[in-house]
Amino acid sequence: MIINKAEILCVGTEILIGDIVNTNAAWLSRELCFMGISQYHQAVIGDNSDRLSHTVETTLDNCELLVITGGLGPTYDDITKETVARIIGKELVYSKELYDEIHRFFRHKGKKMTENNRKQAYYIDGASVLKNDIGTAPGMLCRFEYKGSEKIIVLLPGPPEEMKHMWSNYAKPEIERHTSKVFVTRNINIVRMGESEVAQKLDSLMRRSTNPTVAPYCKTAETRLRVTASAETKEEAQRICDDMVEHIKTTEVGDYIYGTDTEIPVAVVELLIAKKLKIATAESCTGGLLAKMITDVAGASSVFEGGMVSYSNSIKYKALGVSPSILDKYGPYDHRVAAQMAEGAKRIIDADIGVGITGIAGPNGGTEDKPVGTVYIAVYYNGKSKVTKFKFGRKLSRERIRELAAINALIMVMEVIKKAGAGPHR
Ligand code: ATP
Repeated sequence: MIINKAEILCVGTEILIGDIVNTNAAWLSRELCFMGISQYHQAVIGDNSDRLSHTVETTLDNCELLVITGGLGPTYDDITKETVARIIGKELVYSKELYDEIHRFFRHKGKKMTENNRKQAYYIDGASVLKNDIGTAPGMLCRFEYKGSEKIIVLLPGPPEEMKHMWSNYAKPEIERHTSKVFVTRNINIVRMGESEVAQKLDSLMRRSTNPTVAPYCKTAETRLRVTASAETKEEAQRICDDMVEHIKTTEVGDYIYGTDTEIPVAVVELLIAKKLKIATAESCTGGLLAKMITDVAGASSVFEGGMVSYSNSIKYKALGVSPSILDKYGPYDHRVAAQMAEGAKRIIDADIGVGITGIAGPNGGTEDKPVGTVYIAVYYNGKSKVTKFKFGRKLSRERIRELAAINALIMVMEVIKKAGAGPHR
């Protein structure tokens, strides 16, 4: 049996009413995509057996694989396996082994197992049980015939960590045996060139190229080019991808590429490590977000000395040495203030690079001259500051302005280091 088409069905009223975001579907979609399995539809169904039945039945007409997440738990509204069992004409059978495992799970956590958890020890007759190493609800992989064709339904728990672990370790290896080709994807990371410009510059290449395919998409403050190749073997698909990535580096877009399959904070930390540089931060409107982004990266301790949230004018002056007369004359949202914050951070924390961020994240505080979204970012390195004034847009949310400010500060760090070339002169 070859699986060409799959559908994802996420069960849970909380998804339907917008209480939680359907991250399971997004994550599984990428998994299926990398496996070369097409998807034409996705569905979200509330905890209602009739509607779930109806959707499962119609979905089975259109695909070979149906992946269902959620509704496997112990409560009365967890109805997924009962519904699927009915559709494929199977009974639910009790497993003493599963019961003991669930029991052990609770004992290990030092918790008492309530009687309703017994429900989770039932599985669909004939299904392969997928172990849940993280939680209690076991998953299932059911193979069956439906209207004369072979089908597979995979049932996974709702909690994302459990779902991902179960899929990767127990379901995916089985599903991979039913795929005909291997797909490999690489993402090229580009900054300072927007999606439409990238698309325009690579227009003919993108139209020409069918294997690999090349397609741009947007991420916060960057453009990515997704290069996807298919082949009989992983090595061959990898080679096709790599050749295209190398080719794209030689095009007009090449100068704007900062990495492949990476993220801006990771690329910055790696660059700092490679150049043996230490960084310090002084943040006002971002409130420590830049320091968080840096320290989210494993290994940041070797390059991140420390940071300061210098929110008020008096702390900018007392802790960082920003000139009170400049603060008085120009206010805190000013390129001179950003530069002195960056220099102060570098000096006080004794790093090689200092970053200063000051601006108006809103929703209040903007003026005609300096509207909400105005942010000054300075990077101090090798005795001089590079300062840039950003206008992120007065309509953006406070959260988005702060995120854009922190990410752009990282991009500036990358640019300043690359421009300087050699190592530090402290
Ligand atoms: P449990 O034993 O935890 O009840 P379950 O398989 O019954 O497992 P659900 O009750 O459907 O799972 O969901 C449990 C939690 O998992 C939800 O409250 C939600 O936080 C998260 N979750 C469920 N489905 C999704 C989804 N599609 N995307 C993101 N999170 C989800």
